[in-house]
Amino acid sequence: MMQAIVLLGAPGAGKGTIAEGIKAATAFVHVSTGDMLRAAVKAGRPVGLEAKSYMEKGELVPDAVIVKIVTERLDQGGPDAQYMFDGFPRTLEQARMLDEVLVEHRGRIEHVFLLDVARDVLVDRLAGRRVCRSCGAVYHVRNIPPKKAGVCDACGGALYQRPDDTEETVLNRLEVFKRQTQSLIEYYERRGVLARINAGQKREVTQADILAILGKPTVGR
Ligand code: ADP
Ligand code: ZN
Repeated sequence: MMQAIVLLGAPGAGKGTIAEGIKAATAFVHVSTGDMLRAAVKAGRPVGLEAKSYMEKGELVPDAVIVKIVTERLDQGGPDAQYMFDGFPRTLEQARMLDEVLVEHRGRIEHVFLLDVARDVLVDRLAGRRVCRSCGAVYHVRNIPPKKAGVCDACGGALYQRPDDTEETVLNRLEVFKRQTQSLIEYYERRGVLARINAGQKREVTQADILAILGKPTVGR
């Protein structure tokens, strides 16, 4: 039986960072549509070309494109795969598509974790975010600075600012989240699978809160 959990939250809520921690402690496979799209852009794949202009403006990529890349990805996993979706679904249309796929695989959504963070914190996190070009590690100019400015601690690669992390695009992304993703909160709340998580805490604390709900309490808490 296929199992799924979903990380839901505004840009900057920390979905990617939290996903890394959950992945390390569980058997969930991390599926990030943002990462998949960026990889497609980098590789010059047709879906990447289609997605690029939307991403740069902070708009959502059309559902048809997302459905395509997610379906491709799920077809690679076995019938008993456990998926942790990050940045997907983002629209009701995508949520319905996910439901259909899960029905086909006799799977279900176990939990949807809503990562709650105050708006000013979101803006600050995004505008100060820097990413390693080589390994994808994520830093923040003040909160998580690399030892040497502009250089990745893990691999020595160059850090860069995502083109959609500039202030103007950040504000648009938050707007788009409010407009298109908010309805998902109600959708999953009605189904009784939504768990609100305070994601304004330290990363370890947020992770532990989620792991506790997944039945994997962290030692020492
Ligand atoms: P964030 O959540 O911080 O905005 P992501 O890496 O998840 O960052 O997404 C970056 C961009 O990729 C989005 O602004 C959007 O253009 C596109 N994108 C990612 N996932 C989806 C999705 N499920 N549906 C539509 N567009 C998406
Ligand atoms: Zn690196």
